[in-house]
Amino acid sequence: MHTCRDCNQSFQTELALELHRDTCQKGQLFCQVCGDRFREAAATQDGWHYECPSEECDGEGIRQDLYHVDDVRTATH
Ligand SMILES: [Zn+2]
Ligand SMILES: [Zn+2]
Repeated sequence: MHTCRDCNQSFQTELALELHRDTCQKGQLFCQVCGDRFREAAATQDGWHYECPSEECDGEGIRQDLYHVDDVRTATH
């Protein structure tokens, strides 16, 4: 069983999970440094300063290291 860390939905296959991660409403931030995805709320305390919630990663800043998934999609089109 594969579970989405952001919304806790479970999927039968890793592929199904991957596909879900692209549309998951709760994993809308993307860290360019470690490639992880997480909720916006997980990356900020005050809604102003954002940093990657992963402890081994020092990515920080919206549009510096962290991007909204929607921004990345439009940028690659
Ligand atoms: Zn999810
Ligand atoms: Zn990171």
